[in-house]
Amino acid sequence: MENKAQSGHRLVLVPCPYQGHINPMLQLGTFLHSKGFSISIVHTHFNSPNPSNHPEFTFFPIPDGLTADEISSGNAVAIMFTINANCKASFKQCLTDRVTEQEPQNKITCIIYDEFMYFSESVANDLNIPRILLRTQSATNFIARNTLIRLHSKGCTPFPDSMSLNLVPELHPLRFKDLPISIFDTLENVLKLMANGHDVRTSSAIIWNTLDCLEQSSLAQVQQQCQVPIFSIGPLHKIATAASSSSLLEEDTSCIAWLDKQSHNSVIYVSLGSLAFISEKELFEMAWGLINSRQPFLWVIRPGSVCDSDGIELLPQGFSEAVGERGCIVTWAPQMEVLAHGAVGGFWSHCGWNSTLESMSEGVPMLCRPCSSDQKVNARCVSQVWKIGLQLENELERGEVERAVKKLMVDDDGKGMRVRAKDLKEKIEVSMKGGSSYHCLNKLVELIRSF
Ligand code: UDP
Repeated sequence: MENKAQSGHRLVLVPCPYQGHINPMLQLGTFLHSKGFSISIVHTHFNSPNPSNHPEFTFFPIPDGLTADEISSGNAVAIMFTINANCKASFKQCLTDRVTEQEPQNKITCIIYDEFMYFSESVANDLNIPRILLRTQSATNFIARNTLIRLHSKGCTPFPDSMSLNLVPELHPLRFKDLPISIFDTLENVLKLMANGHDVRTSSAIIWNTLDCLEQSSLAQVQQQCQVPIFSIGPLHKIATAASSSSLLEEDTSCIAWLDKQSHNSVIYVSLGSLAFISEKELFEMAWGLINSRQPFLWVIRPGSVCDSDGIELLPQGFSEAVGERGCIVTWAPQMEVLAHGAVGGFWSHCGWNSTLESMSEGVPMLCRPCSSDQKVNARCVSQVWKIGLQLENELERGEVERAVKKLMVDDDGKGMRVRAKDLKEKIEVSMKGGSSYHCLNKLVELIRSF
């Protein structure tokens, strides 16, 4: 059923169909809906969000033309190229239908689209509808991406192994090995996709899921490079009051009852997000390292995250007996609830930007194990800039895992990280309650109302 909010302004939101992009876009939608806007979500068939979780929005699926082979390839970069090539016409048709049938008091005021759904730009321009870009990764990562594109255009890539630990000039503390290179496709294709998402000439503004208190200097730099206003309104999961889950996989909430039985700050929560994967050997080393650390753990083993298997059946023999009540394994967790739980004292994360923001917002220090792309930039910032975590850098080995878990959860080093993480949590709260994010949100709402 069509939703009609009081303001008469309809906003069309176009999320990129991956979990780490759907969540912040729908959280933004929940916030804007609470401000009186009607929200329409235009989405691909691939990884379609579940409309019944968001009765306050209207959903419009558009055909994306992806083949079963493309989807099963798991190549997110190639999938995004196909979506951008195929969705322009269907998106335009979808909007034209809406514009024709719309009542004047409920017109489409603005299109807010994920930077990787750049087919939206020309459609918005053709239909003369203002557009705003949403960036769901960090501002520091954006700068690192620009540097990578520049170095590549000068013929400096691939970087020799001997340079991997060198600091990248002007990107302190990032090293060459931390630059956001993806494992999904060739560097050429990855950079082409990134560059396509960079064009903001005709957008009215950029919304960024980050905060001044985390990335002041990176934000100042990107503001200098952009002619349009930037609204850093993060963390979006905190502005969406009472947001429903946008999980593509079913959350196993039984882990909360298990957490309820654990003591304060004792549990390490382990999750590598929605796309990262590990080898069978890494799974084994993680498993034995966690057991030997003697810390309770809650571990998300997502189907497909271990070499195309379900993962859980690969766990070493004798593992369940050794774990007993000390571990809980699920295929997908209600992550925000988990991180907010008093029993959780550390987060072993792949450092996706949402997971990083969610951990910081709850004051939970991190054990960083990035796999690809922006995760490496985020992990470096967590350990070297905010100093609220440590990074597992070498090949995964059970002894090293055991030491790192103990360091984070019980040693003095970890205690220092926990104190800084709690400080950062307070700063984030201040930003949301009358601070920089709060002001940016108000300005964003004003801008949209002015269209
Ligand atoms: N997430 C979740 N349950 C899980 C694992 C992850 O709800 O078991 C959510 C998490 O809260 C975050 C998103 O999935 O909002 C993952 O996004 P992120 O940017 O951290 O990583 P990505 O999946 O994009 O690599």
